[in-house]
Amino acid sequence: MKIICIGRNYAEHAKELGNEIPDEPVIFMKPKSAVLQPNNPFYYPEFTNELHYECELVLRVSKNGRYIQERNAGNYYNAITVGIDFTARDIQENCKKKGLPWEKAKSFDNSAVVGKWVDLTPEINKKNISFHFNKNGETVQKGNSENMIFSFNSIIAHVSKYFSINIGDLIFTGTPAGVGETIVGDKLEAFLEGSSLLQLEIK
Ligand code: ZN
Repeated sequence: MKIICIGRNYAEHAKELGNEIPDEPVIFMKPKSAVLQPNNPFYYPEFTNELHYECELVLRVSKNGRYIQERNAGNYYNAITVGIDFTARDIQENCKKKGLPWEKAKSFDNSAVVGKWVDLTPEINKKNISFHFNKNGETVQKGNSENMIFSFNSIIAHVSKYFSINIGDLIFTGTPAGVGETIVGDKLEAFLEGSSLLQLEIK
């Protein structure tokens, strides 16, 4: 099982970090060990002084494939939730400056948090799924799949040119504007279409 993540998939977020709007999806990965297991606590990592939350829509892969056509890509995932792509922003900035890979900043243990899964039924319009994210009860991020630069299906078509996707893989589809710092004691909560699917306290 692997976790495929898309960076800079919302124009407003790319701008807030001073990045260009990409002309193809920015891809990075997290290993299986990055998943925070249900009911486990999240501890602030000791190696960073600037931990950021990035709330994202997350897809669960339901079929194995590679070289998937965009028009067929909808058959390859069957569940969605909200998740947090935890990022050690100080380390990431340092890596970016030096042109180094991001794994230390993005792929550490428990850096991938996922909420309760929702089945993607045909009635759900995948191009209009809203989500939001609260820090200590205040909404700090708001997004909708309609504002993604690369749609779910185009992400899968692009990613599967390079990597096979397999049942159980997760795809983090990028974060909207409003990313920011989180500290010990913060209570984080993520919502899909208004339903709370993820609650987490930073310990
Ligand atoms: Zn992200």
